Amino acid sequence: MKRRHVPTRMCVGCQEMKPKREMLRVVRTPEGEVLLDPTGKKSGRGAYVCPHQDCLDRAVKTRRLEKALGRELSSEVLTLLRERVVARPAGAYPGPSS
Ligand SMILES: [Zn+2]
Repeated sequence: MKRRHVPTRMCVGCQEMKPKREMLRVVRTPEGEVLLDPTGKKSGRGAYVCPHQDCLDRAVKTRRLEKALGRELSSEVLTLLRERVVARPAGAYPGPSS
């Protein structure tokens, strides 16, 4: 019996292990920039968070996200992250598909 190995990472918000493909990755590049990494392939020091508002809030509030990255998050990155996790209320603002 072979069990497929699913790589997991710990969420810096809820601190639970989740399959990393379901998570958002934030990476600090070797140049010291903190970026959102949608592909999960950028090199650098990464931190993972579930794509949920609660987890992101906790990760930010407890500063675990900053600690994991060893660097403060810019408001730009935070905004990007929030856009990814917040379910947009219909009609709140026009998306690219409307
Ligand atoms: Zn989480």
